[in-house]
Amino acid sequence: MNIFNRLESKGHEQVVFCQDKTVGLKAIIAVHSTALGPALGGTRLWPYEDDEAALVDVLRLARGMTYKNAAAGLAFGGGKAVVIASPHLKTHELLLAYGRFVHRLGGNYITAADVNTNENDMVDIRKATPFVTGLPESKGGSGEPSPFTALGVFEGIKAAVFYRLGHKTLKGLRVAVQGLGSVGSELCKLLYQEGVKLFVNDMNCEKMHRIAQIYQAEAVPENIHRLEVDIFSPCALGGVLRDETLPELQCKMIVGAANNQLWDEDKHGALLAKRGILYAPDYVVNAGGVINISFEVNRSYKREEATEKVKAIYHTLMQVFQLAESERCLPHQAAKLLAEKRLINQKRTLL
Ligand code: NAD
Repeated sequence: MNIFNRLESKGHEQVVFCQDKTVGLKAIIAVHSTALGPALGGTRLWPYEDDEAALVDVLRLARGMTYKNAAAGLAFGGGKAVVIASPHLKTHELLLAYGRFVHRLGGNYITAADVNTNENDMVDIRKATPFVTGLPESKGGSGEPSPFTALGVFEGIKAAVFYRLGHKTLKGLRVAVQGLGSVGSELCKLLYQEGVKLFVNDMNCEKMHRIAQIYQAEAVPENIHRLEVDIFSPCALGGVLRDETLPELQCKMIVGAANNQLWDEDKHGALLAKRGILYAPDYVVNAGGVINISFEVNRSYKREEATEKVKAIYHTLMQVFQLAESERCLPHQAAKLLAEKRLINQKRTLL
């Protein structure tokens, strides 16, 4: 397919191929939309099989950021970057060279950490450009984003519970958390403090038993998705809601941090609705991290302000559920509608 046809088909504005032979840098920066503001999204470092795989990924991820940022009500567009390299080849020089390319975009794209890049890497990039966010707290940044992502998921769970069950509290509910990494373990802490009965799973057995002990949870070594619980919370990998797992679910709601939980959005979104399971769209619920780092751009970071905005995920999700009702569509379609409405409204005000 012709590259311009490809950009046109999904509405991307700009794609930049970056190369610096002296440091072995190969990167692609994709700006999907700047309708709401500068494109904000992380830099993923990954040893892609070939350039085509890297391009497909960066285009998909950049578009995802447009929807995520718009649904979250941020004044930022969507973008993403990929550096084609193995994590062990990440050097200060490589990050600096990459930062220079980000700088040449003049603020159209603002970068942050993603898979295989972290807050310290952002310090290196910052030496070449101010168009970077998500720096360590010691450098005046917002620090580790996962607690904010966990807080957003927690608010999402509260909204889903109120919408589906009419309960204002989570006390006594049964929640199954799959994946106990930086987000999942923090989420367990918040749920435990609310008096939730937890069931936990991680492919790392030591971690699973440790978290289970701390939060008086039941460790579930296999098939946690099959439990009869109020909420199933996928916080590990994407694609967990698919042909094989869907008929086995016995939960009332799904609210989790993992990206792309629905293997096939329309097919599996519809199957969940048919089974009476309420699905909270992942990118609405897991936006806490990006909301938090957005508070670092062009102003001095204030944790309280960022926390309040992350907590607003409760209301955003409620809006999504209500829109799904009024438009007679599925929650993942309503989330898209909400984001698109914000994008269209912004375009109208600019006309
Ligand atoms: P992490 O790498 O810290 O933790 C992931 C955990 O899942 C690990 O403990 C790992 O052992 C476990 N795991 C992996 N595969 C598993 C499997 N098949 N079954 C059970 N456990 C498995 O990741 P994280 O930062 O906690 O993020 C969790 C998810 O949320 C990811 O999908 C990530 O893309 C998404 N997310 C994270 C953030 C953030 O701020 N960290 C923001 C948005 C979305």
